[in-house]
Amino acid sequence: MTAPVIVCSTGTEAPEEAEATLTLGRKVAAASGTDVRWLLLGAAPDGYADVARRHGVAAVDIAGGDGIDEGDADVLVAAVARYWERSPGQVLVFAQTFSTRDIAPRVAARIGAAVVTNAVDVDAGGDAGLEVSAAAFGGDTRVLYAVTPGVACVVTLQPNAIEPTAADGTAPEPAVEKLDLDLSGVVRGVRVVEAARSDGPRLEDADVIVAGGRGLKSAENYQLVVELAALLGGMAGASRPIVDDGWIDSAHQVGLTGKITRPALYVAAGISGATQHVVGCTAAKTLVAINTDADASIFRHARYGIVGDCLEILPELIRSARDRGVRR
Ligand SMILES: Cc1cc2nc3c(=O)[nH]c(=O)nc-3n(C[C@H](O)[C@H](O)[C@H](O)COP(=O)(O)OP(=O)(O)OC[C@H]3O[C@@H](n4cnc5c(N)ncnc54)[C@H](O)[C@@H]3O)c2cc1C
Repeated sequence: MTAPVIVCSTGTEAPEEAEATLTLGRKVAAASGTDVRWLLLGAAPDGYADVARRHGVAAVDIAGGDGIDEGDADVLVAAVARYWERSPGQVLVFAQTFSTRDIAPRVAARIGAAVVTNAVDVDAGGDAGLEVSAAAFGGDTRVLYAVTPGVACVVTLQPNAIEPTAADGTAPEPAVEKLDLDLSGVVRGVRVVEAARSDGPRLEDADVIVAGGRGLKSAENYQLVVELAALLGGMAGASRPIVDDGWIDSAHQVGLTGKITRPALYVAAGISGATQHVVGCTAAKTLVAINTDADASIFRHARYGIVGDCLEILPELIRSARDRGVRR
């Protein structure tokens, strides 16, 4: 049998991101007639065995201990490399997080594999072998990489690139093994001293997002966005300049250097539609744009466009949502 697909979770990804990597791993494994093994680094998340079964994972390998639990990059790189020595795979999939952005290329170098970051999909099974699609050049370009047959590949999957879906049918209970990897001699060049984590709802998971940009003119007017988002049962998003100007904190930033979202409804008020913003919202099912400039690029991505002043239109939408008692 072809070497397995290995999906690695480091604990820095959200549960749905881990499930998206398992969905992708399953697709690649099915196309190449192999299994998925799930490597969990650090404390195994609650319910991992159910998740593994839902995704038809053949085996779960768990490794923890000093440095792994804290997410120290040097230790994680060494741990994955040691694991690969004992059970090599054909593909190693990570969810793309602040941590795996650092470790994936280093792991690839250690194990002699190719690496593709910002991946949005992987196809296997054709004559060309493995093909990885990835976002490039600020997200406005898709690049298709062909991996040379016989060369292993490390892939980091962009958030929200694919929908997590369970496997068909019922899979047997996966084999679970707690590993004791020999990490003696690993030099810890950097250590995680503090990793702030926000506990509230995540913009990436919101079904409705009302986002504002520089067209709102002032920090006070951002309240219009917050109010409409709350009335629609959604969350408030923002373009980068207004985050940079301190109107709202960076947890709300949408785009290349912010959050990649996939809501049912995305309302962009006073946002020009720069590529670096749009990459974070084009997966929305319905995008509504409000802009005074009829030529603004955001309209190229919008299902509904309103050419007008968002400082007049947002209060109207708020009034109308209140009058109708709209709440999703
Ligand atoms: C490496 C890099 C990474 C980046 N990452 C991100 C990112 O993650 N997210 C992000 O958003 N940006 C990002 N940017 C910045 C990006 O290129 C744009 O500069 C930014 O998205 C523009 O924000 P904006 O649309 O709010 O402002 P502007 O470009 O100034 O657009 C304001 C818009 O509001 C309209 N407007 C003005 N008045 C009104 C009104 N009264 N009513 C309605 N419309 C009005 C204008 O016509 C205009 O279209 C990045 C840039 C770089 C170089």
